[in-house]
Amino acid sequence: MSWESSVEYERIINRMVQDHLGGVASADLIIRSFNFAEIEELQAAARWRDAGAMLSIAARELESAGAEAIVICTNTMHRIADDVEAVIGVPLIHIADVTADEVKTYQISTVALLGTRFTMEEDFYVGRLRNRHGLNVMVPDEEDRNTVHKVIYEELVRGVINPDSKKAFLDIVSKLASQGAQGVIAGCTEIELLVTGDDVKIPYFPTARIHAEEAARFSLGINR
Ligand code: GLU
Repeated sequence: MSWESSVEYERIINRMVQDHLGGVASADLIIRSFNFAEIEELQAAARWRDAGAMLSIAARELESAGAEAIVICTNTMHRIADDVEAVIGVPLIHIADVTADEVKTYQISTVALLGTRFTMEEDFYVGRLRNRHGLNVMVPDEEDRNTVHKVIYEELVRGVINPDSKKAFLDIVSKLASQGAQGVIAGCTEIELLVTGDDVKIPYFPTARIHAEEAARFSLGINR
């Protein structure tokens, strides 16, 4: 979520499955797409318990329908990933873990993180990168965090791609790179709709792509 990035997950997973299996093969997916307005309302009110219950019910339904793994297609909603993981019997492929694994293949240790304010400011994401994966995580200053958050909710999840916002994001990345960031995590699944790896001078980690590719590898039973 939002669907603006969910459709990219579907595209990436299907493309990888087709490339791997050939012919007209495509992925066997069960998709539960939410009304993002309801999700956004719960986030803004910090009703994480309710959001966790909502996604947990959905995850169990997906498992009952035959899903062999669960992928929550957003960074922010990993705020309640533990709630979901607790009620399912299949693996939850955690977006921060697969992203950290990708960062580590570049042998860099200090990485900048852009995402919603929840992702940049709360412990569920930054803490996981630091404590489980040993990464030094840099986030933008408060003014820049507000800019990134606002662009996500007022533009990207609505399908608006604004060149001025792209420039603002690139300026923020340059600032963080000059302060020591060796790479940057696009820690919101819509950011890669605005900024691509070609736009930045340091290694760029687009979380929707990284997460979707890992989901495809899981389903194909192959390693990276
Ligand atoms: N897709 C975004 C993310 O990866 C933000 C929207 C949301 O809150 O889920 O965090």
